[in-house]
Amino acid sequence: MAENVAAKPCRLLIGGKWVEGKETMTVIDKYTGETIGVVPVADRGMVDRAIGAAREAFPGWSRTPAHRRFRILEKASHLLAKHQEEIASTICREAGKAWKYSAGEVARAVETFQFSAEEAKRIHGETVPMDASTAGEGRVGFYLRCPVGVVAAITPFNFPLNLVAHKVGPGLAAGNTMVLKPASTTPLTAIRLGEILEEAGVPPGVFNVVVGSGGTVGDWITADPRVSKISFTGSPPVGEAIIRRAGLKKVTMELGNNSGTIVEPDADLDAAVPRCVVSAFANSGQVCISLQRLYVHRSIASEFTKRFVEATAKLKVSNPLEKDCDVGPMIDEGEAKRAEAWIKEAVAEGAKLLIGGKREGRVLYPAILTGVRAEMKVMCQEAFAPLVSLYEYETFEDAVRMVEDSPYGLQAGVYTNDLRKAMYAVEHINVGGVMINDTSIFRVDHMPYGGNKMSGLGREGVRFAVEEMTNIKMVMIKP
Ligand code: NAP
Repeated sequence: MAENVAAKPCRLLIGGKWVEGKETMTVIDKYTGETIGVVPVADRGMVDRAIGAAREAFPGWSRTPAHRRFRILEKASHLLAKHQEEIASTICREAGKAWKYSAGEVARAVETFQFSAEEAKRIHGETVPMDASTAGEGRVGFYLRCPVGVVAAITPFNFPLNLVAHKVGPGLAAGNTMVLKPASTTPLTAIRLGEILEEAGVPPGVFNVVVGSGGTVGDWITADPRVSKISFTGSPPVGEAIIRRAGLKKVTMELGNNSGTIVEPDADLDAAVPRCVVSAFANSGQVCISLQRLYVHRSIASEFTKRFVEATAKLKVSNPLEKDCDVGPMIDEGEAKRAEAWIKEAVAEGAKLLIGGKREGRVLYPAILTGVRAEMKVMCQEAFAPLVSLYEYETFEDAVRMVEDSPYGLQAGVYTNDLRKAMYAVEHINVGGVMINDTSIFRVDHMPYGGNKMSGLGREGVRFAVEEMTNIKMVMIKP
């Protein structure tokens, strides 16, 4: 059983010091409601000092040799691995994420920091053939990739460690200094990461953590002219508000999706069915690439549906700390009530609920709907809940058109062994990633990852995040 997290008073990391605040907020176990942490809320002065400290630390850190940044990030990766059980238990409790997925998240963050360490050693520009232009004859040209300065990371609740790692690892690898504002519901993991980075040797001021609501702390950071870049993961409305408020700053936006996956008749159902179950219900469906819209060819729909419902019925809904838990609570009761209302609305509009949909506080039982229409909320908006809609289609082209018919564009999945169909989907679905013979949920941490349309701007996946967190500086030499 995971180590217990005592309700402990936490502090914020500002300029290399662990500081208390005038106000505090409590962090609860999302399953039991028990208080597991008391965290200072940063006031304006604390945010100001955190950004100031990052600014001050920038010249030193940006000139720290790559081999030293490599060693520090590698050590951070080792420390995360060493404390995997304890950190997974914190994620489990503050995010309500089932133990196996919490442990999996720590394992992924270990890799994300390892990739970041390695990337620190290969940040480089290239030469430019200046004499391709008559005006460039006799000149030498090359460009460098330079860190941008202070990077603000604003992160969501659903992966409180690995989505933070996706910003902090590449940001530090590239020589930037950072201010992190984690989600208010899940700040304990972020604070723990601060301790780990300090132990790994990150110098004072290079990495700062401030906690507080998006509307105050998030907004102050966003508007501060000393911040050069905002790397945000969260919902599209907040992302848009940040872009409006940020002014002339670089931004990366990793936003939501109502992910679709197509299952063709030639799919291997023994592989596809269990994978679709995990894709729809892992982390209670609170994953930006969760399977939400499932398009199954009419010829296999009844067999697929039978197996899909049977497998869903076997999921264990329980306290996420139990090692065999499959589905834990949602992040808060308001979100669970909203998803429950969406299910009821769909049913009132003619959809059929095949299983689940019952709510007990923050827990919503995994729900499968059929008989849905494209304009229902469960289809056209991001559900971010343990809720999947099954749609029977006639032709592959129709299914592709329906997956593409979305304001979002993060990832999509297609089960087919027909190469022409696979490539048709790749060509016609405007998303950041198409997963063939898997669902929308597939991700490894070094692949380019990010969305089109309302799903965002820019890409993460360590090397790609480094590109987003560096500026190109052109050098021309006239000998
Ligand atoms: P959220 O409500 O948008 O919050 C994300 C972060 O933004 C939190 O730290 C939040 O602080 C902060 N924030 C809120 N208002 C702000 C403002 N006005 N200015 C600056 N910061 C502000 O998202 P969430 O509910 O935590 O996460 C769910 C969303 O994230 C879903 O839409 C999901 O698809 C998306 N997501 C996308 C990806 C991806 O990689 N594309 C990955 C994971 C999640 P508070 O916590 O204090 O409100």
